[in-house]
Amino acid sequence: MCNLKQMFHPVEIIRKKRDGIELTTAEITSMVDGFMAGGIPDYQMSAWLMAIFFKGLSIDETVAMTDALVDSGDSLDLSSLGRTVVDKHSTGGVGDKVSLVLGPLIASCGAVFGKMSGRGLAHTGGTVDKLESIPGFRTRLSPEEFETQLRETGICIAGQSEGLVPADMKIYALRDVTGTIESNPLIAASIMSKKIAGGASAVVLDIKVGRGAFFKTIGHASGAAHLMKKIGEIRGVNVLSVFTSMEQPLGKAVGNALEVREAVEALRGGGPEDLTEVVVALATRLLPLSDLGWDRGRSEEEARARLAGGEALEKFREWISAQGGDAGFIDNPVVLPSASHVLNVPADRSGFIAAIDALAVGRAALELGAGRHRKDEAIDHSAGVMLKVKSGDHISEGESLASVHSATLEKCQAASEAVAHAYRISDTEAEPAPVLLD
Ligand code: URA
Repeated sequence: MCNLKQMFHPVEIIRKKRDGIELTTAEITSMVDGFMAGGIPDYQMSAWLMAIFFKGLSIDETVAMTDALVDSGDSLDLSSLGRTVVDKHSTGGVGDKVSLVLGPLIASCGAVFGKMSGRGLAHTGGTVDKLESIPGFRTRLSPEEFETQLRETGICIAGQSEGLVPADMKIYALRDVTGTIESNPLIAASIMSKKIAGGASAVVLDIKVGRGAFFKTIGHASGAAHLMKKIGEIRGVNVLSVFTSMEQPLGKAVGNALEVREAVEALRGGGPEDLTEVVVALATRLLPLSDLGWDRGRSEEEARARLAGGEALEKFREWISAQGGDAGFIDNPVVLPSASHVLNVPADRSGFIAAIDALAVGRAALELGAGRHRKDEAIDHSAGVMLKVKSGDHISEGESLASVHSATLEKCQAASEAVAHAYRISDTEAEPAPVLLD
């Protein structure tokens, strides 16, 4: 019998896209399937991705790409829970520990928060890495365990299972080394395929914009947001976006265990203001998409009350234990990994903090051991940077701008210089940088 998929020739499909002609769903599917089956080599896939980078994809093509990625693996069906499962996705930032606070906050309100999360890549951190700094915490869960935990505790954050959207993993790795990451339709298809396969019914996207983010301008970010909303409409996932600044790191902690400690502070109601502001803004948009029937006004009120009242912290404790973690660190943070070397970064002049380059701080944390250059590299959960001052603050010469944490003094010394350079100190009073952009 004739196999339809074999009738498509990759060179023709590459040429068609190169010349700006719209592809059919079958052509797109044949490229993704052929690549996964080994019939389409990396060089043809790369050429096709570059053609997409330059010529773009229509909304129909983007949906076809999303479907092809979803169909490359398993999908979670969470319908037996009989609940709306809400999710949040960040496009990646420096010091972004929002999920650690938002997840238990949402669950403490009675909604169901389920999230498959990634590891850090390059200068941005990943929620799974942060969670793995908690002794005993299990991030590799079977689909059954994921579902059971959602049913029993209302929250689960696990590593993305290997069976889910394997084509995205393989194509993303190729995009990463061929300069084709920054394509809105490819980004939208990649993110939405994971949300759809992960069984989410509603997603709030935290779209980071600025120096330390993947999107440098709000224009680029809103193009991707629009596409993801469209894909969601077509595939039955309610999608909302919030644009937040990544000009400077979020909060003060950058690095896995350091960020977990800061998340606990925020859950106690005393975390950095910008972190709490982002968490509340996302909760205000996510809770109305759940099955609680709350509007935005009530959602914001309830979220703030549960942070201040300790219910979110109690849900966090329950969640960590349910996933095998030793929740003792919540009251006794020394249980978490801490670095053998800590060096202060002194200010070389007095003045006001005008800016902190998030990308430079993220890269310093990476070199300290908090992140990985390659996917298979081990990380040091104790490593990172603690900012002491943020934009708008005043500093006197010799006072500490930040501290750097690592396993070796050499790494601390190199990072200390990089972090000092990340700060711009001005004589004139500077306003604190806004974190919410919309
Ligand atoms: N995050 C993703 O998951 N995919 C992309 O393509 C970009 C950011």
